[in-house]
Amino acid sequence: MKPRDLSDHVAYQAGRGIEEVARELGRDPSTFVKLASNENAHGPSPAAVDAIEDAAGSVSSYPKAAHADLTAAVADRWAVADDQIWLANGGDGAIDYLSRATLEPGDDVLVPAPGFAYYGMSARFHHGDVTEYALAREDDFSQDAETVLEAYDGERIVYLTSPHNPSGSTIDLEAVAEIADRTDEETLVVVDEAYGEFADVDSAVALISGRDGFDARDDVAVLRTFSKAYGLAGLRLGYAIVPHAWAEAYARVNTPFAASELACRAGLAAIEDDKHVERTVATVAEARATMREEIDALVWPSDGNFVLVDVGEATPVAEAMQERGVIVRDCTSFGLPACIRITCGTPSETDRAVETLNEVLEDRG
Ligand code: PMP
Repeated sequence: MKPRDLSDHVAYQAGRGIEEVARELGRDPSTFVKLASNENAHGPSPAAVDAIEDAAGSVSSYPKAAHADLTAAVADRWAVADDQIWLANGGDGAIDYLSRATLEPGDDVLVPAPGFAYYGMSARFHHGDVTEYALAREDDFSQDAETVLEAYDGERIVYLTSPHNPSGSTIDLEAVAEIADRTDEETLVVVDEAYGEFADVDSAVALISGRDGFDARDDVAVLRTFSKAYGLAGLRLGYAIVPHAWAEAYARVNTPFAASELACRAGLAAIEDDKHVERTVATVAEARATMREEIDALVWPSDGNFVLVDVGEATPVAEAMQERGVIVRDCTSFGLPACIRITCGTPSETDRAVETLNEVLEDRG
């Protein structure tokens, strides 16, 4: 007996931590800064840390069945009904739930290229297949309905990422509505807003609820996560916001206890700490502006907590930066061998990244 052949899966590039990189280079971890995984430079909300400490003694019990208090707080935040919130083990877990809820063997999903690898992986785990629509670097990776619809061929799920990883581009809600209108009734349009808090654009939840002049629809879902603006990436907490008509499917796709008690308690404290999110978003906006102004290379405009930079040859530049203590993301695995992605850090981390990159670029001539 062998595991099934998963060789067509693109391996998820989890990115290495500071400890691992420092050990390999034989250096002191405290001299490194990691700006490679779009984590929160300010860490978690202190209120979330307190909540984890308070809950620590109760981890011998299973999580509360429905995580009702967190679900209610999230639903309240979006002005939707509680049963429209599918809590999951990170945004990745929410992607899996949507795969489970929609895909029959052989169904395809349509994903952006470049784009987030887990959409395709999840589809393949669920015996589906993947087709791509291209976001062109010549067009600043801009997203519109036509680009998606030209590539669309009856796929069961269409993934839109707004803000998009790794470019930071967004798609407007009229375009999302048009895509949903012009795709089959059996197609779900998933708008991944993992980086939504950093963008000055409206959430596609308006299309699910029928607000802001849009009709309520049952063919759009939105993904959100606590990993980015809330700084809880290590706890694994995310959710899908689904149409009313989808609510009861959750009980059939949910992995029992997928969202841990610690994650839910911390999530509840975090969602109530608006100040921490506001501070995070302000730091990100400042870092994006600094990087666009001061990096001596093409930096695309971004609505995420990161920027994409054209450095000519990503791998040697990322390696040279790492050698100087700044870990960034080499975007070769995204199909962008000329680009690196730099996460927005604290002001001093961002300054160090800018300086280091400019030095490396100058050295390379
Ligand atoms: N969507 C996008 C576009 C992402 O970049 C990520 C994480 N990097 C996720 C979803 C999933 O995040 P998580 O599972 O940590 O919530």
